[in-house]
Amino acid sequence: MRTLTPMQIYMLLPKTNCGECGFPTCLSFAFNVASGKANIFACPYLSEEAKRKLSEALAPPIKLVTIGVGEAAVKVGGEKVMHRHEDKFYNPTAMAFAVSDTLSDEELKEQVKTIENTRFERLEEVLKPDLIALKGTSGDPKRFAQAAKVTVENTSLPLILCSFNSEVIESGLKICGSKRPLIYAANKDNLEVMAELAVKYKCPLTIREPKNLDALAELVKKAKDIGVEDIILDVGFKDLKETLRKLVTIRRLAIEEGAREYGYPSIAFPSLAVFKSDSLADFWEVTVAASLLVRYASIVVLSGTKPWRILPLLVLRQGIFRDPRIHPRVKPGLYAIGSVSENSPCLVTSNYALTYFTVKSDIEASKVPSYLLVIDTEGLSVASSVAGGKFTAEKIAEAIKEYKVEEKVKHRTIIIPGLAARISGKLEELTNWKVIVGPRDSSELRTFLRKIFP
Ligand code: SF4
Repeated sequence: MRTLTPMQIYMLLPKTNCGECGFPTCLSFAFNVASGKANIFACPYLSEEAKRKLSEALAPPIKLVTIGVGEAAVKVGGEKVMHRHEDKFYNPTAMAFAVSDTLSDEELKEQVKTIENTRFERLEEVLKPDLIALKGTSGDPKRFAQAAKVTVENTSLPLILCSFNSEVIESGLKICGSKRPLIYAANKDNLEVMAELAVKYKCPLTIREPKNLDALAELVKKAKDIGVEDIILDVGFKDLKETLRKLVTIRRLAIEEGAREYGYPSIAFPSLAVFKSDSLADFWEVTVAASLLVRYASIVVLSGTKPWRILPLLVLRQGIFRDPRIHPRVKPGLYAIGSVSENSPCLVTSNYALTYFTVKSDIEASKVPSYLLVIDTEGLSVASSVAGGKFTAEKIAEAIKEYKVEEKVKHRTIIIPGLAARISGKLEELTNWKVIVGPRDSSELRTFLRKIFP
């Protein structure tokens, strides 16, 4: 990976220690830029020469490409490492559903609405598709333009305009070119005209070369010479093993060898791996999509619009693109679960998101409305935070006061997790509350709560 040392960055800074970047000295700013914690452009006094040198040297080896405009714009690429534990992955694989211009306007509208309304909530994040790929299957520029019109009128999601026919693509660009759709795709036969369209409409361009990576690099070079800046790579799909090998290779060449011609995000179509006649086609497409998502596809396009197909992929993506240095967590506080009253039991747990949501659903399953006091354990589970001194009697006592638990319930009883049994005595001493040690596993809360609060 190309990097600059803090001293190399420092040498290009003004060295006035003015502090306007939010750091007291230019040197501390340089250290923070080098470790990725500060943006070099937070210094307003960089010379033009320094700006040029630094943006070149600090640019991620996989270029950041934006599709769409405004709030719905999708960013792909911008990656710096092969493996998540080396830093983190920055921009999640964008998930797209494909629709075809051979549908009637009404059918198309319905499918677009289905995609637009597909959303799930998990760990306090909304998971949803990011893009719609409009396929110019009709080959008719007029029909494609009308389909593009219907699509943009019914979605805020950015589009991928799909056709190898430049007239079809231009008809779509005339409708929605100002919304910066991704053009799919240029190949060896149409590269020049597609590249000119990408430059004219200022849109990112996909370059497809399924035969070999050298030929792909040649096409990238030609497109750049024509003036295309934002490129997405498509290595085609012969079989899954070969496609994964190519995706890993281009990522490695870009990140480890600094090969600029491969330093772009990639797109993949898992539907090419399945026979539509196969009764398990849907299942295989999702399985192949998961493999492509894990091994570096920046955009994955699914056929069809059934929401269940995208859910496992979005959950997988959420896990992979989460910063491994930060534990998923919920906000500490007092949560009411069900129709609580002043007699409802009060339980306590950690703010590790998975613990919170598991305990919450186990309380819901018990059908005993309860208060759940969530302690700030910096995202650690109960077992780890008890061992690490972050789930303590002192913290629970403070939280009881901070979140005014005494005003919510008239009893003075708190239920702590079985894994925290050893702090029960100290907690009673600090709070004068009766402390009940609950089950070690929250799945037992259902019977536990019903026994105490029948
Ligand atoms: Fe140095 Fe620029 Fe930061 Fe001022 S704003 S301290 S000149 S890096």
